[in-house]
Amino acid sequence: MLTLEATKPPQSDQTLGRVLVVEDEELIRDTIMLALSEEGYDVQVAEDGRMALDILTQPDDSDGSSTPGIDLIILDLMLPYVNGLDLCRLVRHQGDSVPILMLSAKGSETDRVVGLEVGADDYLTKPFGMKELIARCRALLRRHRHSQPPSFESTLRFNDITLYQQECRVMVRGDEINLSPKEFRILELFMSHPRRVWSREQLIERIWGPDFMGDSKTVDVHIRWLREKLEKDPSRPEYLTTVRGFGYRFG
Ligand code: CA
Repeated sequence: MLTLEATKPPQSDQTLGRVLVVEDEELIRDTIMLALSEEGYDVQVAEDGRMALDILTQPDDSDGSSTPGIDLIILDLMLPYVNGLDLCRLVRHQGDSVPILMLSAKGSETDRVVGLEVGADDYLTKPFGMKELIARCRALLRRHRHSQPPSFESTLRFNDITLYQQECRVMVRGDEINLSPKEFRILELFMSHPRRVWSREQLIERIWGPDFMGDSKTVDVHIRWLREKLEKDPSRPEYLTTVRGFGYRFG
């Protein structure tokens, strides 16, 4: 079964990284949380797939990644509401490369293969020891940090669309197009997070700010205007697509 060795918390107040633990079994969740916290990680937990989804789709102000400030996800396969495979798929769909360690009670080769196919980086079968888990987490974080390219880029390119952030200019298929400041900021946000799904509420929060009094139809109107300027056929958009039930996605 799960084992937990007592270790002293590190003296430094610098966290080793922020870990999201998605696990519905309380005992396992608490054991992992305790073990990682004692190692010096900053741990956030989600009890089911829906809670995890809420955390993972929060807008992020800190950097280019879609998962707000999360450096590693420990993800149980079988979860209520939204399962681990679907969550993993969604994170990768958003273009986020945050390392994912998948947990499963089943030890079959098929589960392992499917888990890795949908974008998990590593896979651990229950029951496992906390030392093993921590070693895997450390290795994943180290590998991920070494593979990160420098993130600053003032020109965003996607197929035949180029956005010059400093100059506030956008070229589409070789021609410069005229965008309103709001349209420019929406496109800049979308192009900074290719394939990430944004809800109307998230777009309002990011573009119009928390004091905005209008309704989410405003977002739809701006998306329509953007499509008319970007898309070859605005009625069948290739860039700004609607994700039914969620919102919009670029790319
Ligand atoms: Ca479970």
